[in-house]
Amino acid sequence: MTSADSRRPHPVDRHGDPLTFALSGFLAEPAGSVRDYSIEAVAVTPEDDLELDGPVSATVRLSRTNRGIVVDATLRTSIRGECSRCLRPVVTSVEGRIDEEVLPVIDIASGQPVALEEGEDLETARLTDHHELEMRPLVEAAISLEEPIAPLCEPDCPGLCAECGERLEKGHGHGDGPIDPRMEALRAFRFDADGENR
Ligand SMILES: [Zn+2]
Ligand SMILES: [Zn+2]
Repeated sequence: MTSADSRRPHPVDRHGDPLTFALSGFLAEPAGSVRDYSIEAVAVTPEDDLELDGPVSATVRLSRTNRGIVVDATLRTSIRGECSRCLRPVVTSVEGRIDEEVLPVIDIASGQPVALEEGEDLETARLTDHHELEMRPLVEAAISLEEPIAPLCEPDCPGLCAECGERLEKGHGHGDGPIDPRMEALRAFRFDADGENR
């Protein structure tokens, strides 16, 4: 997999990451405030050996709630895979969704730590200590969910020939007559015997 690895983008510098948002100003705004962002062509490398065919674009709406920020985002990218019938490479366009409340670690008004309520375990997304939203992990997780289970190269992909393993292109067959495995075997035997195998 060295060729795949060499295509991976370099590790991200969080400070320049377009998926990181500095939100101390926004946190000072009242609940109900909204900010919209449009993000073009960010390189993302989800886990699970998922291979993207291109960068991720996103529309993001951040809404201030009483406790934190709701991230509402639509993500667009394409995922590489192989056709589940004929194994040809397939690129599937996908649209991922994020709809998640992210809570601050420090309350910006009081400077006090924000406590999680019961039922909010360590999985709850948090802003950083510096009131930044690091959206990258949310993006990676949302795209991983969109991995197609059984992609097809085309809706009516004919699949592979049970006899020879080739893709069943139009007109694929073995010899002239009706395709009957028993007849095929007989004919092959006869040609072999006559020494004029095609
Ligand atoms: Zn196919
Ligand atoms: Zn065949």
